[in-house]
Amino acid sequence: MARTEFPLIHRYFAKIGATREDVDLGIGDDAALLMPPAGHDLAVAVSTLVEGSHFPPGAAPSLVAHRGFASAFSRLAAAAAEPAWLTLALSMPQVDEAWLEAFSDCLNTLTRSARVQLVGGDTTAGPLRVTLHAHGFVPPGQGPAPSSIQPEHLIYVTGTLGEAQLARVADQNSLRIPGQARRRLQDRVQRPKPRMAEGLALRGLASGAFSVTDGLARGLSRLLQATGTGARLKADSLPLSTTLAENLDRAGGWLLPLTATGDYELCFTVPPASRAELERRFTALPAGCACIGRVESSAGIRCVLPNGTDLSPIPE
Ligand code: ADP
Ligand code: MG
Repeated sequence: MARTEFPLIHRYFAKIGATREDVDLGIGDDAALLMPPAGHDLAVAVSTLVEGSHFPPGAAPSLVAHRGFASAFSRLAAAAAEPAWLTLALSMPQVDEAWLEAFSDCLNTLTRSARVQLVGGDTTAGPLRVTLHAHGFVPPGQGPAPSSIQPEHLIYVTGTLGEAQLARVADQNSLRIPGQARRRLQDRVQRPKPRMAEGLALRGLASGAFSVTDGLARGLSRLLQATGTGARLKADSLPLSTTLAENLDRAGGWLLPLTATGDYELCFTVPPASRAELERRFTALPAGCACIGRVESSAGIRCVLPNGTDLSPIPE
């Protein structure tokens, strides 16, 4: 991009997010200078969205901002980290002021409400693509450590599963979903929310955690691979919205909540002894959580259906 265009780009990004005292030097210099609190680990999570792969060509800039923010910060939440800083690498074919204004407005709202400050980035000419690096803090040893996962640990998931996917299926198969429920589905697609407060509630309790973005079964399988364990899930414990429960058969059956992408919920494992404390912490949190199964010593992910049969293997 021509040099003369930089002041303009700078205008959109110079003042995004909260003003934090732990930022010594933010946007404007070659490098930001940041002050992580003493005695904390720095958690860093990255997410890239490419036009045509992660959002449709011509998608609203606010959708790109919401999805990028949710994707990066839900990964940070899975580390039980308190969010603090954001950097943004943006490439676009040419300077599109209307796009930049809508995107930066939305990112500003999201970062302010999360007390996150945009502290730097890079802007280049190229295909439309955004990369967000989310930074946050966690006291050492308080975040999930997958090597500590053991058989009998309980498996939980926040919120509800499969709604973003149901919205896509509903559009393709013209499922009849009434106006208010449809708007709620659209909201899940267009304004996904990372479960940051829920992530903090995992501190000192969860053995493993991940953001469900790429599907529950796939994420669980990856999480459990490291310890050679597997999982037994119970289909009738999977948290479904009323709309999904009512349309489950027509929308693909139990595979939908097990494999759906784009949920941004957290899935985590907890030793049975921590169950009461975990559930106590979650009573105060908006998304809530549901116990969906247990870790087992044999590898693989199985799901017991309501009729008693096993759904296995679950395609990833
Ligand atoms: P130049 O390429 O002209 O040297 P830089 O890439 O150093 O300019 O960017 C100038 C300042 O603006 C830097 O502090 C950089 O971190 C910040 N910046 C550039 N693009 C973005 C962006 N997309 N989001 C946030 N900050 C950005
Ligand atoms: Mg640059």
